[in-house]
Amino acid sequence: MSRKKGKSFLGWLIVTILIGGAVFLYNSKMFERVSPSISLENNGYWNLRNPLNLKISDDSGIKSYKVFIKTSSGETVLYNEHLIKHEESIDIKIKPPRSAYAMNDKNIKVLVEVIDNSKWNFFAGNVAVASFDLIVDKKRPKVSVISNSYKISKGGSAIVIFQAKDDNLKDIYIQTNYGKKFKVTPFYKEGYYISLLAWPVGERTFKANIIANDEAQNSTKAYIPLYLKNKPYKLSHIKIKDRFLKGKIADLAYEFVETQGVTDPLEQFKIINEKVRAKNEKLIHEITSKVPTEMVSDFKIHKMYPLRNAQVVAHFGDHRMYSYAGKPLSESYHLGLDLASNSLAEIKPQNGGTVVYSDYNGLYGNMPIIDHGLGLYTLYGHCSSVAVNSGDSIHSREVIARTGKSGYAMGDHLHFGVLVQGIEVRPQEWMDATWIKLNITNVIKDAKKLINRAG
Ligand SMILES: [Zn+2]
Repeated sequence: MSRKKGKSFLGWLIVTILIGGAVFLYNSKMFERVSPSISLENNGYWNLRNPLNLKISDDSGIKSYKVFIKTSSGETVLYNEHLIKHEESIDIKIKPPRSAYAMNDKNIKVLVEVIDNSKWNFFAGNVAVASFDLIVDKKRPKVSVISNSYKISKGGSAIVIFQAKDDNLKDIYIQTNYGKKFKVTPFYKEGYYISLLAWPVGERTFKANIIANDEAQNSTKAYIPLYLKNKPYKLSHIKIKDRFLKGKIADLAYEFVETQGVTDPLEQFKIINEKVRAKNEKLIHEITSKVPTEMVSDFKIHKMYPLRNAQVVAHFGDHRMYSYAGKPLSESYHLGLDLASNSLAEIKPQNGGTVVYSDYNGLYGNMPIIDHGLGLYTLYGHCSSVAVNSGDSIHSREVIARTGKSGYAMGDHLHFGVLVQGIEVRPQEWMDATWIKLNITNVIKDAKKLINRAG
């Protein structure tokens, strides 16, 4: 190799190394050119109490960050950190400034500035700046009960009317001790709400609070003062007979998907009384859980009386314990009132409404359900025929169906159910004009008087 050739090779090698090195550095983390990312968890509101969650991250690590808030009176630095350890991601809980309690600004800005650990920009690093506009809301919603039923009985219904005020109200509902949340409907004038309540027959006690939350996570809980009236319900011990298993149960087992392939009659009964019943009731609860979302100005209901000259053949709330040959087999609650007159009797509800279901529903047989508004529904089980269709509007005392023994029924009768937002309640209350007047109508009247006086 000549000297000249050797020299040019060396030159070529140096250039290659320099370019290669530059390319390496250019592509290395050390010299990355991507600005840090900044994200603030927020919905545009801040109550100046709960910390805000800020997340900053960068591939080359974070060298420093600064957080400050801008109000009408100037800027306040909350954090100004120069880090020794350059982590790729940092979560910061931004606490409000000490002066927050005295701050009267409705709108503030949270500003975040982050510098990464890259050697880019002549070793200064990449800078990211972000600004977040937040509406300050330190006030909890104001909730006041206007009027409510004096009492609620186990298995029974009640009503409440209240006012909820807040600049940024997000949601309002009624929370009960047993997990159920009752929806509320705007009532009469802006800022007022109404809801029916129910104490399920299987629950030992009842308690309800109105919960109001605003956009800034301020929350208010207001207790609904109801006098609790315990009501005993019947506990029935029913002995299952072979005749019943070979008759009705065999017929039903033939019809349900859940009992296909099951040959033991006791097992068939257990599946029908538990699995099929639960499925049928789930459907009923879904259909009857809706409440109006538009404002209602009144709620008028007549004493319910669906079947003329009827006798009560089974009560609401019976806790039925089934046994066979002395051994406990299954149990269930009877969640309606069984009424019987003559066979194929006309069913005529006293209250108009909208038909929301009119189909076959397992144990309940042919079953129309009527929506009377405000989350109040009536259900008619075991019908031989149904004269209405889902979606129909019905007027007071229209014949909607005829009694029968479809589904899980021995003799011709009507299983009359009343539901409040998906919960079965004692039909007897709604069949009593005095009860309706004292517990529903008068409460609404009183509330309207108070609302009118408030202006
Ligand atoms: Zn029944």
